[in-house]
Amino acid sequence: MRALVCVPGGTEVADVPDPVAGPGEVVVEVQACGLCGSDVHAIENGHTRPGQVLGHEFGGRIAEVGSGVTGWQVGQPVAVNPLGSCGTCPACTRGVPFACPDWPNIGLSAPGAYAEYIRVPAGQLVRLPDGLPVEMGAHAEPLAVALQAVAQADVGPGDTVLVHGVGSIGLNAIMALRLAGVDHVVGAGRSPGRRAAAEAVGADDVIDTRAVSLADYVAGTGRRFAAVLDCSGAVGLFAESLEVLAPAGAFVEVALTPDVPPVPLFQLVQGGFGVYGTCAYSYATYEAAVGHIAAGRVPVEAIISERVALDDTPSALVRLRTPGDLVRILSLPGERTSSAKPAQPAQPAQAATAGNSAVTAQ
Ligand SMILES: [Zn+2]
Ligand SMILES: [Zn+2]
Repeated sequence: MRALVCVPGGTEVADVPDPVAGPGEVVVEVQACGLCGSDVHAIENGHTRPGQVLGHEFGGRIAEVGSGVTGWQVGQPVAVNPLGSCGTCPACTRGVPFACPDWPNIGLSAPGAYAEYIRVPAGQLVRLPDGLPVEMGAHAEPLAVALQAVAQADVGPGDTVLVHGVGSIGLNAIMALRLAGVDHVVGAGRSPGRRAAAEAVGADDVIDTRAVSLADYVAGTGRRFAAVLDCSGAVGLFAESLEVLAPAGAFVEVALTPDVPPVPLFQLVQGGFGVYGTCAYSYATYEAAVGHIAAGRVPVEAIISERVALDDTPSALVRLRTPGDLVRILSLPGERTSSAKPAQPAQPAQAATAGNSAVTAQ
């Protein structure tokens, strides 16, 4: 089969052996895999192994069922939770299977889904309902990350919450905050296209961080934030956030950032603030994400900027290093053509406008 393999300095499409389902496993024919910022940064910073196959945001159809697997059939559409879990170690029992030392994570320590086929444990499958485009399974992973971040923030009706950084994860966070019933969702970002997308997926206010400081926003509106979700990794945001959080508010770091910020301990203690880090989720949260997508409660499709064939995926991963208005790119490993597919967002109309302008800007 063809797969995107890591090579020094980037990625390339290569022929690799077809995966074979072992006991308790299935092989999934990948329909779509989302290009994730963590993949972009891993490649850019040389944190990949030669021959490694990345890709962890995906959906497809079962192509082979291994021995001992019950309840799954060839042809069934599925989303796949990339995070394996032994279910019994301290990391898994405390809800952070990402840190499980005993089970590989797909697209990280196990081969990923920038490939025509992938071998996965049957226990990590989630059924997609008939009639739902199989591609929609690719959106479950970033939504699960966002749902977990919102749960960590412990926010809901009556709260104002800031999402700082409105790329794929930030936009999913806005959707997750809406699901949580948060009253006032504020997005903050630099790119005009991404800010338009933030509005389209449900932000009440969207700040241009180059023009308006968080302190200015709070002074002007009188709304302090019950939580700040940092999906940007912006330098200085942590200290700035402690100035604008409501009492007992939460700062949730969702970006994988190398930043080492100073910690204003006096404000932290006086405000009774909570500080959390999260980049993963449990199987139940992933399953809930699929449920929200299947029920049409989240406009995940609206943030797709492009769909690209496997051959165009290496260059798309490079373009995402400086994304500008680009939000989300899906790789379609089954596509044989080498031409990029333009965005064809289906819902809602307002969001489609944002998606189209994102493409034009490139
Ligand atoms: Zn991801
Ligand atoms: Zn474990």
